[in-house]
Amino acid sequence: MTQAINDFPTDQHGWAELLPARDKPAPLAGNVRVQWVVVGAGLTGLACARRLGELHPEHEILILDARLVGQGASGRNSGFTVGVSHFPGAFNAKNKANYARVNRINQTGVALLDQQIKAQAIDCQWDNRGFHHGAADSQSINESAHFLGYLDAMEINHIALDQDAMQQRFGTALYKTGVHVKAGGLVQPAALVRGLADSLPRNVKLIEQCPVLKITHGKPITLATAQGEIATDKLILATNFEAGKLGFLSRRLIGSTLSGSFTRRLTATELSSLGEHKEWGIISLHSGGATIRLTADGRICLRNTAEYFGGALLTPEKLQQRQIIHRASFEKRFPQLTHVPFEFSWSGVEGISRNGTNFFGEQSKNIFLAGGYNGSGVSRGSAFGYALAEYASGGQSELINDCLASAPALWIPPRPILDIGAALTVGMRFRGVGLDR
Ligand SMILES: Cc1cc2nc3c(=O)[nH]c(=O)nc-3n(C[C@H](O)[C@H](O)[C@H](O)COP(=O)(O)OP(=O)(O)OC[C@H]3O[C@@H](n4cnc5c(N)ncnc54)[C@H](O)[C@@H]3O)c2cc1C
Repeated sequence: MTQAINDFPTDQHGWAELLPARDKPAPLAGNVRVQWVVVGAGLTGLACARRLGELHPEHEILILDARLVGQGASGRNSGFTVGVSHFPGAFNAKNKANYARVNRINQTGVALLDQQIKAQAIDCQWDNRGFHHGAADSQSINESAHFLGYLDAMEINHIALDQDAMQQRFGTALYKTGVHVKAGGLVQPAALVRGLADSLPRNVKLIEQCPVLKITHGKPITLATAQGEIATDKLILATNFEAGKLGFLSRRLIGSTLSGSFTRRLTATELSSLGEHKEWGIISLHSGGATIRLTADGRICLRNTAEYFGGALLTPEKLQQRQIIHRASFEKRFPQLTHVPFEFSWSGVEGISRNGTNFFGEQSKNIFLAGGYNGSGVSRGSAFGYALAEYASGGQSELINDCLASAPALWIPPRPILDIGAALTVGMRFRGVGLDR
């Protein structure tokens, strides 16, 4: 399967656009032969390449990305670094081992990021004090009771909050109930991936704007790019939902397009109309509810749409339409800030499987892959990437076993059935969302 460069489009509407401009990256120097290639410089690929660099100081490792670092999902997410996953529905004691497994992976990812951000002094608004979950309407309020039951049963550190406490913290009366979970964090996602990319070990070389167009299996494995051919002993695919473009998982992993908006920076007076907390994040306990943050630089950022759009970013026209949905969500929460304009809106594509599982392992001889975290990839992608480096190097660990224990993914039908199925699935996600959106 051969791709073309324009099969990897991007736009200028991400968190990366809030950051200072970067130097133009160096291109690939003709044809090369290396021991390792990692394709994809999101959180999975960066964690994997960093670990490979540490494990094999004598090897040359190339990490390639089709786009600039920060333009994939890892630089376009909402920055919630999940330590404890929310499994919808009532606590089920039979699933306790699985809940614990997923949370071990999450927390390894949080710890790895925490350690790297501190060691490399990455300036990315990192706040490792956890975040909140909120409920505004009947379904999510019901779900909040389930979530508290799970946190209690799993002995996870948390604080339950009523409407007054939520209002006092965030300056909105919308949430009837909430929970603060301490394990986890918040981050400026594009600043994080840039910082990680700029501090890779010396034997790891990053090449941006260099899509891999074709993979030829063999010994060595060869990769065709527009900048030259690369031969390698081992290949890591950290390409998220775009693995299908290179012939992997095309009927198992697809892209779902999400969108959100940022306000401009709030003034001191506007900030004082919010609650006591100066930097926070709330994830809805309804699957279709908004994720909303007050960022460290004083912007309200919220995301509340998801749709199947062929695995592509939204067009400017579509993004403008979605902004109306973002705006309603913002004004409903903060009637005192209705005069505050959005500075811009953005979209991003997350990799999802039909049954919400993740991918980890050897796809074919010497070709390894990790990805598809269904909206929880900041911590999990970091842990999966790290574990994949060790696994591909012949290592063994509890983390590797936890990643390998991911359930097999269900088959996804091709288009046009996919479009109908995806529209129904996304529709289900928003059913009964009410005030939470
Ligand atoms: C709007 C939005 C909000 C989200 N919010 C959260 C959140 O708050 N918390 C959370 O945990 N998760 C969230 N997610 C999900 C999270 O961003 C992803 O799960 C995670 O970033 C996946 O990381 P990755 O490295 O596997 O993939 P990506 O970051 O997508 O990286 C894959 C990279 O591979 C590159 N690539 C693909 N094909 C090729 C090729 N052929 N050649 C070269 N390069 C290639 C791409 O350009 C891309 O940069 C959100 C996602 C979106 C879109």
